[in-house]
Amino acid sequence: MNIMLTSQRLASVEEIQFKAVLSDLDGVVYRGEDAIPGAVERFNLWQKQGLRYCFITNNAEKSPAEFAEKIRRLGIDCAPDQVLTSAEVALDYATKKYPVGSGAYVIGSASLKARVEAAGFELVESGARVVIVALDRKFDYTMMTTAVRNILAGAELIGTNPDVIRPIAGGSYEPGTGAIIASIATSARVTPTILGKPAPEIIRMALEVVGAEARDAIMLGDQIDTDIKAARNAGVRSVLLETGVPVKGTPSTMPDYVLAHL
Ligand SMILES: [Mg+2]
Repeated sequence: MNIMLTSQRLASVEEIQFKAVLSDLDGVVYRGEDAIPGAVERFNLWQKQGLRYCFITNNAEKSPAEFAEKIRRLGIDCAPDQVLTSAEVALDYATKKYPVGSGAYVIGSASLKARVEAAGFELVESGARVVIVALDRKFDYTMMTTAVRNILAGAELIGTNPDVIRPIAGGSYEPGTGAIIASIATSARVTPTILGKPAPEIIRMALEVVGAEARDAIMLGDQIDTDIKAARNAGVRSVLLETGVPVKGTPSTMPDYVLAHL
């Protein structure tokens, strides 16, 4: 990767010193259902060494418990509290800002709706204080209308993921959560609050999980615009893995290190 002029290429992650690891999932630990070569062995080694790690994803479709189960299935020891999704950050933000029992209109999976309810919100179609948007493959004009009407009546638009497009199996693509958020924001003429990477809050929450200061941690990721920028925004050193989405063009943020694989 010749564009990483200011990044240091590592032959092995062992060349740098750190006490805790924050890691993206898709493109770093697995792709689809398959583990990425080297990842399972590396995390097992860290676990044996007593090094703490936390996985961070902008995918709010599944709960931390569901992700932890998938990670364990691949052979990496992982408890639900070692996974943070962008939904946890969005809910942390929303529960601090709005009183228990506030209405929420949610576009997203059944798992996300259950978590919003468990966080103390009432799921409503009108009179919402917040409109929370995640990936929903059933998203349609009626849902867009309901979201816009709630926002026009005063609700805050909270997005869980800025990605407008996402790579899927077979080398193809599908529209991402960011595209759904943009359609609603455009119509309601508001600026959405978007949590999850690259916003630094998810990194700060992960640092609390591993009990480390920013300077003692590294962030592993395969995407500049989310993983690497989030690490930079939170003051954590970043390692770009070349196992995921290829970097196109000249990135606006350089990773501190570049690594072919774990
Ligand atoms: Mg990724």
